[in-house]
Amino acid sequence: MPTLTEKKTTRSGRPAPELIFGDLWEYDPAPETADPKLKARYDLFINGAFVAPKSGKYFDSINPANEQKLAEIALANKDDVDAAYAAAQRAFDTTWGKMPGRERAKYLYRIARLLQDRAREFAVAETLDGGKPIKESRDFDVPMAAAHFFYHAGWADKLEYVAPGHKVAPLGVVGQVIPWNFPLLMLAWKIAPALAMGNCVVLKPAETTSVTCLKLAEILQDAGLPPGVVNFVTGFGETGAAVTGHPTPAKIAFTGSTEVGKIIMRSLAGTDKKMTMELGGKAANIVFDDAPLDQAVEGIVNGIFFNQGHVCCAGSRLLVHEPVADKVLAKLKNRLKVLRVGDPMDKNTDLGAINSREQLKRITELVASGVKEGAELYQPPCKLPTKGFYFRPTLFSGVSMSHRIAREEIFGPVLSILTFRTVEEAVEKANNTAYGLSAGVWTDKGSRILKMSTELKAGVVWANTYNKFDPTSPFGGYKESGFGREGGRQGLLDYCQLT
Ligand code: ADP
Repeated sequence: MPTLTEKKTTRSGRPAPELIFGDLWEYDPAPETADPKLKARYDLFINGAFVAPKSGKYFDSINPANEQKLAEIALANKDDVDAAYAAAQRAFDTTWGKMPGRERAKYLYRIARLLQDRAREFAVAETLDGGKPIKESRDFDVPMAAAHFFYHAGWADKLEYVAPGHKVAPLGVVGQVIPWNFPLLMLAWKIAPALAMGNCVVLKPAETTSVTCLKLAEILQDAGLPPGVVNFVTGFGETGAAVTGHPTPAKIAFTGSTEVGKIIMRSLAGTDKKMTMELGGKAANIVFDDAPLDQAVEGIVNGIFFNQGHVCCAGSRLLVHEPVADKVLAKLKNRLKVLRVGDPMDKNTDLGAINSREQLKRITELVASGVKEGAELYQPPCKLPTKGFYFRPTLFSGVSMSHRIAREEIFGPVLSILTFRTVEEAVEKANNTAYGLSAGVWTDKGSRILKMSTELKAGVVWANTYNKFDPTSPFGGYKESGFGREGGRQGLLDYCQLT
């Protein structure tokens, strides 16, 4: 076993990779070099064209890895949102709403193919704008976004099978607002089913991550999508409220915090608009003593440290069977020591930058509350870059259900560990939350998987794996995690009228 003091040179004479912290090999940097082809300034995308905002105002999108300005983004006001909805309604009445499904499918296929052609460029743009590691955006976000367009292209000419025995028709124009954790993927989840069904769209991306949305607008142009079918308006919460509060849309689809979801629901109460809400989560990842523990540890790490914990279905509570609790904790600590935290553009990086200063502040505040309330904190001794927003992967053991870190969504790389003795206690603790988006179960017994997946109040239950996604598989929550489903046949049902 090499030690810290060993210094060697390779055969080429270069210094050998150095060991840091006893067991982490320091790799040479492997920066991704593809050109993200960014513009200095992005306008709104309305009626098939990029147009300046009526206010003339722009705001900065920064790279959270180094706090440098990446691009200027147009600030849309109510008049811009009016123009976007007018274009969407016109497109629905004149082209898209009347087009046969097999013709709409061709556009969706084209969008998917063009996105694949420019995959690396989009991955780099996503990483620069949002801070997630390039291996995430390259291997997950962009391919999965393309997969959603392909999948829904396949549905567009088979819509009579979405609800056998019924006739399906589009809703008309839909308004959509998305968050910053999976900017391109959330956009694909929203617009692909809407378009396949024959709806037209006005969408607002999150203020910190608008770049890949506006790059996708270029692809929509290249695909020849008729003007007005998809419109992008950028801005902050006020722009979002103009999108969700507008009289035109027949449906509002929102992904974001439970707090904002509730504001939108209150504002739409009493209207006949349809809604789907994909909100927060506080998922339990449940490990039984008969689970393959090394595999489970990988799943736990993937479940919460993947994408810096910026995942609404993150397995942020680990419920571990008492007989193996110490063993699992020791294995987790060892695994955390070799996670690489740093430059998101480096292909070796496991944890990149936290998306924004505000989010970093929130994570820091909740972690401080965990320490104050008496949970035991562990953070590996990794070096963090001096510029940019970073947070060490963090474990809390000795957590009880009354601690804030066990109840509130942290949306950061922070895992709270609780223990249980019986299956009933595991179910009771897992369900003891206001949320219900996802859960994970690790066990050798198929019967236990079936029991847990029926009793857990979560929209998705993963068994002996975590964070597995597929466009065919519906995703959505229970309780304060929202309602409605995205993906699969169920996702399409949320974008149609049935007769
Ligand atoms: P997160 O905590 O994931 O950032 P938010 O709920 O704050 O989630 O934001 C998700 C999206 O909702 C963003 O695009 C944001 O601009 C938008 N938004 C914020 N406030 C409102 C609001 N009052 N009405 C509609 N959209 C909003």
